Amino acid sequence: MPQTQSDAPKKPIDVLVHARWIAAVDPANTVHENASLAIDGNTIVGIYPQQEARQRFSAEKNFTLDTHLLCPGLVNAHGHAAMTLFRGFADDLPLMTWLTEHIWPAETAHVDAGFVEVGASLAAAEMLRSGTTCFSDMYFYPGVTAAVAHRHGLRTQLAFPVLELETAWAKSLQEYIDKGLQVLDDYKHSAYVDVCFGPHAPYTVSRETLLKVLTLAEEIDAGVHMHVHESEQEIQAFVHEHGQRPLAMLHEIGLASPRLCCAHMCHVDDTDLEILSTTGTHVAHCPRANLKLASGFSPIQKLLQAGVNVALGTDGAASNNRLDMLNELTTSALLAKGVAGEAHALNAVQALRQATINGARALGKDADIGSLEAGKQADCFAIDLDQPEYWPLYDPIAQLVYCANSQHISHVWSAGELRLEGGRLLNFNLTELRNQVNQWRNVLRQ
Ligand SMILES: [Zn+2]
Repeated sequence: MPQTQSDAPKKPIDVLVHARWIAAVDPANTVHENASLAIDGNTIVGIYPQQEARQRFSAEKNFTLDTHLLCPGLVNAHGHAAMTLFRGFADDLPLMTWLTEHIWPAETAHVDAGFVEVGASLAAAEMLRSGTTCFSDMYFYPGVTAAVAHRHGLRTQLAFPVLELETAWAKSLQEYIDKGLQVLDDYKHSAYVDVCFGPHAPYTVSRETLLKVLTLAEEIDAGVHMHVHESEQEIQAFVHEHGQRPLAMLHEIGLASPRLCCAHMCHVDDTDLEILSTTGTHVAHCPRANLKLASGFSPIQKLLQAGVNVALGTDGAASNNRLDMLNELTTSALLAKGVAGEAHALNAVQALRQATINGARALGKDADIGSLEAGKQADCFAIDLDQPEYWPLYDPIAQLVYCANSQHISHVWSAGELRLEGGRLLNFNLTELRNQVNQWRNVLRQ
């Protein structure tokens, strides 16, 4: 007699998450209802109707999340994790005043490995609590941030600083590059840590250095992440000095390519748009930081219509002041409509893609993360949508994008491992962290 499916031996796996909805963020943007995500080790086995999942698999752990939406872990495509210690330190100032009179002097005076350890740990706590499982980071002492990310199971793309001026971390261009490549070597076997080049911006790093970065990046097949066209002032100063816009220079030297991710791109003229779309250069949009520093408005609808991959980032907590990607998601969707003058610009589904798969693509990690599909890494979060703020619920993706509060995030997994349960961080001593943060506050406010 042929074996029926219910008689067949169940396959042992590690985890089954039974959720009311699962947003796969696959090419068809499938939202599964009453479905189960099967996870074995660090990998997604597949998404199945709940009954079928229970018949096929015997899971070591089952999570029944009857009122929850399960989504891919959010990807924060631009930030400076350790700058959480500057949260609220210098507010209500334009970019250049904020940078030159407050942030850079404070960094010169205080930033060391201990600062980065505490600041990056605070960022890790905030990011995990708000559903982020992967972040891009550009800051001094990237080896310290790498260790923090590795410890807490956060994936990261460390864009190590490439500068020509002396800081506490490095004295010369060569030292920046040597130290950055050392981190790459130290973490070459880590599933969590990737390293790329992080020349700060065209207005702080010379064309010669950028050419060197490009050569090295091509040699070791690494990405390049930089601030580009954040403010109109920086573009005009560059045009005055060099006779061309910064992005045009990046294109001229061959840096504009799928290897490059441009953070901000608030100011995009027709030639910029053409360069971005024809070269496959990525954009990491940071709407809250751009609004706070009054830097400008990135034309997201135009970028999307031109086929540019637009990811989403928070930037550092000094200019946001949150690292909350759900908050960023809402701001991004609303701002895109306002800027385009079209209510259909950046709809809810596109906004969720921006915060997940587009971010993964910008970081060169889309083969592994950014969607919930068989074979990908099991990075995901669950949010409880049975809250008054989400009633009545017609469309879970719309509620996530336009209503969601990250305080309703209940579970976060990265690489199949539970990092947040019942809204509480696992393996994180927040009391100790608060004390360390307060010690730094006392130092910085002097
Ligand atoms: Zn930035």
